[in-house]
Amino acid sequence: MNIVLLGAPGAGKGTQAAKLVEKYGFAHISTGDMLRAAVKNQTPLGLEAKKYMDAGDLVPDEVVIGLVKERLQDADTANGFILDGFPRTSTQAVALDSELSSLERPLDAALLVDVDKEVIIKRLTSRRMCRDCGYIGSDADAACPKCNGEMYQRDDDNEATVRNRLDVYESSTAPLIDYYRGCELLKEIDGDRDPQVVFDAIVSTLGL
Ligand code: AMP
Repeated sequence: MNIVLLGAPGAGKGTQAAKLVEKYGFAHISTGDMLRAAVKNQTPLGLEAKKYMDAGDLVPDEVVIGLVKERLQDADTANGFILDGFPRTSTQAVALDSELSSLERPLDAALLVDVDKEVIIKRLTSRRMCRDCGYIGSDADAACPKCNGEMYQRDDDNEATVRNRLDVYESSTAPLIDYYRGCELLKEIDGDRDPQVVFDAIVSTLGL
């Protein structure tokens, strides 16, 4: 299955993508993770992207479109993929459609994980990630419950940046909800529930 995960930052896309990958073996394509890896490795692309990411702004379309096109060439994506955090603009959505149609691998669903804005602000400012395995937890985790690695706060999870990311989401990304509704691919899930309950709803909605 080829799936796009839509939803505001902090809606739980990364958590749900990780669960889908673990259970069904889909390839996980997270542009945020790819960009953070580039920043960590101080590649030219990473150095360029960091200033946008730290401000909570979007990295230019051509940069992320290039990353995703390249990633879709990898063999592991042939048995299905989850796009997490991409597309985020209509330019990206149109570029994705065109790439997938030339690859003859159309999307099966665009899954919207829907969560109220105030809940998101609370979630994001208390969110912590594992430096070693990428596990997504909260400030209640002293160490990573999966690998005992160090938990850290992402540079862009402070309240000012979070509010900007939500504004950017509303103006640039939320219009994609209608775009995918128009393509009859949209499926909506209430994301303000326990992650396992959300996951079960996703599995049943997708008929997995
Ligand atoms: P995420 O981990 O998905 O919340 O992404 C973290 C940051 O990476 C975002 O706030 C953007 O600065 C950048 N980013 C990730 N995906 C995209 C995308 N599809 N288009 C533009 N910027 C992106």
